[in-house]
Amino acid sequence: NSNDAGDNAKPEGVKKKIAIMTSGGDSPGMNAVVRACVRMSLYLGCQPFAVYEGYEGLVQGGDFIKKMEWHDVRGWLSEGGTLIGTARCMAFYERPGRLTAAKNMILNGIDALIICGGDGSLTGADKFRAEWPSLVEELVATGQLTAEQVKPYTHLNIVGLVGSIDNDLSGTDATIGCYSALARICEMVDYIEATASSHSRAFVIEVMGRHCGWLALMAGVATGADFIFIPEKPREDNWKDEMTSVIEKHRKLGKRKTIVIVAEGAQDRHGAKITPNMLKDLLADKNGLALDTRITTLGHVQRGGTAVAYDRMLGTLQGVEAVKAVLEATPDTETCVIAITENQIVRKPLMKAVQDTKEVAKAIDAQEFDRAMDLRDTEFSDQYKSYMMTTRVQLDQELMLPEDKQMKIGFINVGAPAGGMNAAVRAAVAYCLSRGHEAVAIHNGFAGLARHHDDKPIGSIRPFHWLEVDNWASKGGSEIGTNRELPAEAGMDVVADVIKKYEFDALFLIGGFEAFHAVSQLRKARERYPSLCIPITLLPATISNNVPGTEYSLGSDTCLNELVNYCDKIKQSASATRRRVFVIETQGGRSGYIATLAGLGVGASAVYTPEEGISLEMLAADVRHLKEVFAHDKGQSRAGRIILINEKTSKVYSAKLIADIIREEAHDRFESRDSIPGHVQQGGVPSAMDRCRAVRLAIKCIQHLETYGKKAHDKIREDPMSASVIGIEGASVVFSPMKTLEENETDWPNRRPKEAYWTSMKEVVDILGGRPTYQRPE
Ligand code: ATP
Repeated sequence: NSNDAGDNAKPEGVKKKIAIMTSGGDSPGMNAVVRACVRMSLYLGCQPFAVYEGYEGLVQGGDFIKKMEWHDVRGWLSEGGTLIGTARCMAFYERPGRLTAAKNMILNGIDALIICGGDGSLTGADKFRAEWPSLVEELVATGQLTAEQVKPYTHLNIVGLVGSIDNDLSGTDATIGCYSALARICEMVDYIEATASSHSRAFVIEVMGRHCGWLALMAGVATGADFIFIPEKPREDNWKDEMTSVIEKHRKLGKRKTIVIVAEGAQDRHGAKITPNMLKDLLADKNGLALDTRITTLGHVQRGGTAVAYDRMLGTLQGVEAVKAVLEATPDTETCVIAITENQIVRKPLMKAVQDTKEVAKAIDAQEFDRAMDLRDTEFSDQYKSYMMTTRVQLDQELMLPEDKQMKIGFINVGAPAGGMNAAVRAAVAYCLSRGHEAVAIHNGFAGLARHHDDKPIGSIRPFHWLEVDNWASKGGSEIGTNRELPAEAGMDVVADVIKKYEFDALFLIGGFEAFHAVSQLRKARERYPSLCIPITLLPATISNNVPGTEYSLGSDTCLNELVNYCDKIKQSASATRRRVFVIETQGGRSGYIATLAGLGVGASAVYTPEEGISLEMLAADVRHLKEVFAHDKGQSRAGRIILINEKTSKVYSAKLIADIIREEAHDRFESRDSIPGHVQQGGVPSAMDRCRAVRLAIKCIQHLETYGKKAHDKIREDPMSASVIGIEGASVVFSPMKTLEENETDWPNRRPKEAYWTSMKEVVDILGGRPTYQRPE
């Protein structure tokens, strides 16, 4: 029995009551949390409550604590902010406030509290939990409640979720809301860049982050800003000269725009605040750079708007995990916070996370900056290094490798374009230049490379220049051109010959399943062609996210955002009629990843994937369910319903056919339409996450290639890592040997990994979408 919760369990048949609250500053994705907690609680036989207005609601009680039903949270995924409100509550800092809160909880029969907020909210929560027995005692001693009344509530069960746009909590890679805020910042910086470039201006952009530079840093990485200031890592004392010389150098290289990003809490090494005005004066100084400089403070725009797909996913999966954690907890279980490490949702001790977070602020105040950086997660310091390496091209002589270690590295994009490809190329080129490598563009994939073979080369292979790639950070598509042709199709003889002719020391591929296949072919052909005995690595980039060796491909996040926006708009369009089901066909090849994840982000009523297939029973059950839903819908629905179907799910059941079947069965009680977003899914401007990850992973790829050095031919064949794929797997970034992947982990006929880590998410979509259970095909 999943309601069994140790000593604290209620008598059988009594539902466990779980309260959900949002607290502190609002952040996009909080609504996803509430929706997931409410529905998961109901699904597991518990009664959820929403506490409105944060701790204030808990102290006030009455109507602030509201029983929640399934339909109360319909449509919440696509709403910004938090719909149950949030507040700062002074009363909760004091014991009398917490005493009243405890009383209100017991009066409502609440056994457990799930809180989504920042470190303050979580500190308050832990204090509340620790104090609980004494609060209960006091309630009885002062006659406010009887011993009988408090008996089932001797222990308070609390689970924390981190909702914050700053990404300031230690122990988790991402807080719920931070990627939405980052997306907004990048969007704004992209806009500003256009005008900056037109007028050849400089802009100083201030972003949020008092003790945490995550937003400023990641925005710098994603947009390729010229200079950034973050609280954890103040610049050296000569920062003024450093900034002017970096910017001067960039201008001399021909750059027409200058972007400086500064976090609210930026300071120098002695604790003096660095303000946008100071920076503006410096850049505009008539005796110095004399740049026409403007300041833009982004402010609350950063909090606004709906959540990006990632935050909806994070909020949903963490909400589900929080309810599970509540039900599994015993009085002896340490209070946990739900975190994410790379790609894994994990439970961590709440107080340690809060304490570590406070340590960062303390370290900054004490000017112990190395410690502050150490306390941040690996991704943070990784990204900081990436940022420095890609923006100080040829400035740091100490980064330069000795001549005999400098390599000639060929860059190829293979397959369909995906968001982040250009950002990856840009970062890798910048890194190569700062190390002294020669970065060479091979245009239009292997087809382009093969064309170079004849006597009239048409410029398909040439060295990159920094200025040309510098503004690629935010560009969609593939600037060097991409092509689906495999090396074997282009002619392995020719490919090997061109690689020999150009004396490439390494190849860096960016692409999807075709690119994976290409690396496999090249690896196997090494037997016959010595020139192919060079290190080759693949950075997976495809919206389908179907490359073995990684749980994440560049471009998949961009695609999910496009799909989620598309579905939101389509749902909206039905708000007038209300009774409409949209059957939307997604791309994704034979992988149901994007269909499933988009389903998670929009709250789909059903998702059909190639992995699971479609059966008549399934369709019948789903149609029956829709009929029931619409029969009972008393107008609570604000918009239409979405069904997602991957393009390769079935040869027979197309989106159109399914929509037709639903319409026929609906007998005019509701409507059904099909819709195909098509290439919209490749996205325009790549998402902030794809851009940031592109930079980090691309640099790691070149660093990996670099370990082989120049002309490593002899050593290569025995080294399994010399043909590899970089990926995010579980909680870490890893390189996997191509040979192992192609032989053991690839479902070649279906062009996807044998094991997909996300399959359990499908169940979450079904549960939260209220999909009826049916006999799943084996
Ligand atoms: P943000 O990251 O947006 O600042 P936060 O959760 O850190 O979010 P706070 O204002 O620090 O925001 O905290 C929200 C509420 O949590 C406070 O108004 C208060 O009611 C409660 N709270 C915070 N710290 C404590 C504490 N030490 N003891 C009791 N309650 C607290």
